[in-house]
Amino acid sequence: LMCEQSLSTYSFSPLQYNRYQCYGAEECVLQMGGVLCPTPGCGAGLLPEPEVRKIVCEPSNGMGCGHPPFIK
Ligand SMILES: [Zn+2]
Repeated sequence: LMCEQSLSTYSFSPLQYNRYQCYGAEECVLQMGGVLCPTPGCGAGLLPEPEVRKIVCEPSNGMGCGHPPFIK
């Protein structure tokens, strides 16, 4: 899969990549069951844990916009 190949090019762990580093890899996010932040101009790839219903674009990592939690 191209998705896996792109992941391997980053030094981040796959989990960190999934959550925080999917800018410009929207298709990869969607393939993994993630969603894109609905905030205009943000578009961060968000990949919640399978059991998590509310998705947060966390600003704590320095990349999220702080969009209020939303349901996938
Ligand atoms: Zn966002």
